[in-house]
Parts: sequence; C-alpha cells; structure tokens
Amino acid sequence: RAAHNEEAAAKAASDTGAPTIFDKIVAKEIPSDIVYEDENVLAFRDINPQAPVHVLVIPKLRDGLTTLGKAEPRHTEVLGQLLHASKIVAEKEGIVDGFRVVINNGAEGCQSVYHLHLHVLGGRQMKWPPV
Ligand code: C5P
Repeated sequence: RAAHNEEAAAKAASDTGAPTIFDKIVAKEIPSDIVYEDENVLAFRDINPQAPVHVLVIPKLRDGLTTLGKAEPRHTEVLGQLLHASKIVAEKEGIVDGFRVVINNGAEGCQSVYHLHLHVLGGRQMKWPPV
C-alpha cells in the first residue's frame, strides 16, 4: 500500500539538514513535471500521487526550512508565497473550488523529505479527518 510505503519512508528519514532530492529537482538535475514556477517557488507533480491532482509546492531556497517547525520570522514572506502558489496551482489544475493543502511535519507527521513542501491534492472527493 502506498500509505504504508510513505510511513516507512517517513520513519527512515530524519531532519539532518543534509541536502535532499528536491535540491536536484530545483536545479533540474533530475527531471520533474513542473506545473508552476517563479523566482522563489517551484511546483511539480508528486511521483507517487495520492489523488488525480497531487502537486508539491516548494521554496527553491530551503534556507533552514527543512520542516514547517523550523519556521522563523524571516520566512514569513516565502511561507505566504508558497500558499499563494498553491492557489495558482489549484487554478491551473482546474480544482480551485475543491482542493486540499497539506504539510507533513516530522516523522510522526509522516514527513519523508526534509525540504519544506506543500502537498496540493484534488480531483476527487477528499475525506475528513485525514488519517
Ligand atoms: O510529506 P512527505 O515528506 O511525506 O512528502 C514527500 C513527497 O515527495 C511524497 O509524496 C513523495 O511521493 C514525493 N517525492 C517526489 N519525488 C521524489 C521523492 C519524493 O515526488 N523524487
């Protein structure tokens, strides 16, 4: 099950501050299916989609934001840009009237990549609570 794999990946990962695969995606050393890009933000399709639309929105420069839990006052501008980019992604994907934005934080939050990312999910009926 995909969910099980995600939990295993989250257990295996930790917030070491080491570079992640997302640096290579930002540098375009690894190809990704880019949905939106501007000076500060990159949005690309998740390789293991959990919904018909599943896009990751990340800051190009991590600047200490391995997790949301590391956010500092200097990050407020980019945090706002990430949320606004999520809305642009939802519009571009035709789901702006019904979508979800998720940030997994830390191992117990099921985070597996330690470069802050917002999941933009939609294209199907979402359920609540998220399990
Ligand atoms: O919130 P979490 O850290 O678990 O999310 C990481 C996401 O990054 C996963 O949904 C995974 O499928 C995705 N991923 C990706 N491309 C990679 C590595 C991970 O889209 N090369």
